[in-house]
Amino acid sequence: MKIQKQDIIFVVGVSLVYCSLSAGFSLVSTILPDKMVLLNPIENGSLSVKEIVGHFIWGAVAGVVTLKLRYILLGGLLAVIIDSDHLVGLLHVEGIPRMSHSITFAILSTIVLLLIFSRKDYRLAAIVATSVLTHISYDMFAGGFGFPVFTPFVNKIIDLPRTDWLVFEISAICIVGIVIFIVTRKESEKIIKNDSGR
Ligand SMILES: [Zn+2]
Repeated sequence: MKIQKQDIIFVVGVSLVYCSLSAGFSLVSTILPDKMVLLNPIENGSLSVKEIVGHFIWGAVAGVVTLKLRYILLGGLLAVIIDSDHLVGLLHVEGIPRMSHSITFAILSTIVLLLIFSRKDYRLAAIVATSVLTHISYDMFAGGFGFPVFTPFVNKIIDLPRTDWLVFEISAICIVGIVIFIVTRKESEKIIKNDSGR
């Protein structure tokens, strides 16, 4: 497993877009009903080293299923970066906390990243879509919080039982696994076809 220059450019590019998307999506909460006073992420120390390492490991574990370094790195990085939705708390405005910890953000970020980077990169789609799951899994494991899972349609903060963290992590691993299985099969069918066509 080797990392090349184009892998690094890809990983950095995807991470930067994902970071802006998450921060941008959290701004939507400032115009939603049910908004509340947001905590300042710096004063509350929401990003400790332990949290960063934990989120990275949880995300990278799902990425390992791809057996490709660029997606393993992305799995870890995106699961950390998603927390840029806390940055809205610096603006001293009212909003909804953890906006990107939601189904809408998972779908939206997958579509946008595929459109920007490669429409046929299903491995990327699987990693982006599941990074919300691996992220929430660690959040639950570490302390158990509530998440606006159905925002912006239902803005209630839903408390998930802490013990369910494993369900979220295993679901992410399974989703990535299924996508990789299908993609790898399609790719090998293509190779066989090309070989016999010669
Ligand atoms: Zn979080």
